[in-house]
Amino acid sequence: MTEVSIENLPYCGDYDVVVIGAGIVGSMIAREVSKFEGRFALLEKETFSGFGVSKANPSVLHSPLLFPSGPLRIELAYNAALRYKKLAEELDVVFKEVDEIFVALEPSQLVKLEAANNWAKENHVSAGHRIIGPEKLWEVEPQVTKSAIGALYGKKCSGAIYAPEWTFALTENAMQNGFHVYFDTPVLNITREVDYGFSIQTQKGRLKTHYIINAAGLFADEMARMVGDSDIHLTLTKGTMAILDKSSSHLVSNMVYGTYGKDHSQLISPTSHGNLLIGLGYFTTPENKRDTKVTREKLQEVIAMGKELIPAISEKDIITSFAGIRSENNKAPRGDFYIAQSDHAPGVIHAIIGSPGLTAAPAIAELMTKLLSDAGMVMVEKRDFQKKRVGWPRFEPGSLSERKKMIASNPKYAHVVCRCEQVMEAEILEAIRRGANTMDAVKHITRAGMGRCQGGFCGITVLNHLSKQLRIPPTQVTKKGKGSHQII
Ligand SMILES: Cc1cc2nc3c(=O)[nH]c(=O)nc-3n(C[C@H](O)[C@H](O)[C@H](O)COP(=O)(O)OP(=O)(O)OC[C@H]3O[C@@H](n4cnc5c(N)ncnc54)[C@H](O)[C@@H]3O)c2cc1C
Repeated sequence: MTEVSIENLPYCGDYDVVVIGAGIVGSMIAREVSKFEGRFALLEKETFSGFGVSKANPSVLHSPLLFPSGPLRIELAYNAALRYKKLAEELDVVFKEVDEIFVALEPSQLVKLEAANNWAKENHVSAGHRIIGPEKLWEVEPQVTKSAIGALYGKKCSGAIYAPEWTFALTENAMQNGFHVYFDTPVLNITREVDYGFSIQTQKGRLKTHYIINAAGLFADEMARMVGDSDIHLTLTKGTMAILDKSSSHLVSNMVYGTYGKDHSQLISPTSHGNLLIGLGYFTTPENKRDTKVTREKLQEVIAMGKELIPAISEKDIITSFAGIRSENNKAPRGDFYIAQSDHAPGVIHAIIGSPGLTAAPAIAELMTKLLSDAGMVMVEKRDFQKKRVGWPRFEPGSLSERKKMIASNPKYAHVVCRCEQVMEAEILEAIRRGANTMDAVKHITRAGMGRCQGGFCGITVLNHLSKQLRIPPTQVTKKGKGSHQII
């Protein structure tokens, strides 16, 4: 993209509400706001949705038990699995229901779990957890270590999603309902307009808007500074995760936690697409907002913590590892979210979200429509809101008869592109047609390249499809946008 000077930006239009950031929070907000009448836009600096923190976390939704501080996040995390389940049906996207099990290896841990359970009951955020003995635990999860002495067991209160896939479905549905979505459009500055709220200067052009929702994740403090809120600061911590090959998937069926706290988390969980994820180890301080490198030392710590819970886990089955950065802010105490109208620029609403932002995103989006109304926006529900978004047939989870039907309707369902994850050419072409314009975007919404070989076999085929469909030379195809060309 050519660099433009802020003063000479082309005019892109005027809006009632502009949402900044297409992570899980911003795209959930966009979809919720699209239920109302108005002119709306979503701005995202990356080339696709879900490339921020939302792609680098364990992708698990849990009960508020795990974060027993910060009243707002506790309230917004309550009943998340139920909300996601309903949304999954509307948006045709995967939500995997799993139970939540906190394992105790020593008596002091069991006491802590009993206290957490009592706390949840007293605070009316209980999801019906109960303490179980080791026999019941091994009946539910036979591979849990024989050193376990009991567990806290919660049924149907948690789940797994793949957040980037969700951000895509949410933005697609928001677009169906009239939202303008601008990717590859970093916000550079925000100024006040005499007659029209705010002017937002982006790398692509200038927009005017009455209201701004700041959902820029780790960069939300920078957006806040642009409107005069210089007192918002983030504290960052980093966690490490690894994905195991599907040959290990039988080892665990539910979300299994060991010890957890402000400084660390010991977790093994199924992913929504059937792998196992282990993480997060002891949190460290990243060098900066982009420091997501994985160190050998942290990876070994995560493996050791995983093996302590499930001894059958093998290092050899790790197919990839990654790290993600969590944030806490100084405006809300005890790790809570800060979701409020700006102190200095009425009309700007900040969504400064840390963990468990994924879990809480549907409730955050509902709260946001209330805050828009409080800020003065007239909220009139659309009569013709389309709540249904339709994906495309997926070959891998299909039954034999469903697969035959897919091939009969489109012979490109018979051409394998990704052997590990059984992704067919028809799916790759559909993803590109719907806007996936980089290798990572295709990977996130089709799973091509997510398997054991990590794209070793299918990468070049996906690249050639992108080149052909986007009508660009192969040398112009990128992994995730500017500066990540695949062929030099
Ligand atoms: C290690 C780890 C463990 C976690 N564990 C859990 C958990 O167990 N449960 C849970 O619920 N949550 C968990 N979380 C938290 C959860 O992942 C986040 O709260 C959530 O993903 C945040 O989503 P977001 O949309 O606010 O941020 P992001 O996904 O980062 O989205 C913000 C978007 O804003 C865009 N943006 C930034 N600046 C600009 C700009 N100038 N112009 C335009 N766009 C811009 C970014 O590119 C990005 O796409 C964890 C996070 C981490 C890192």
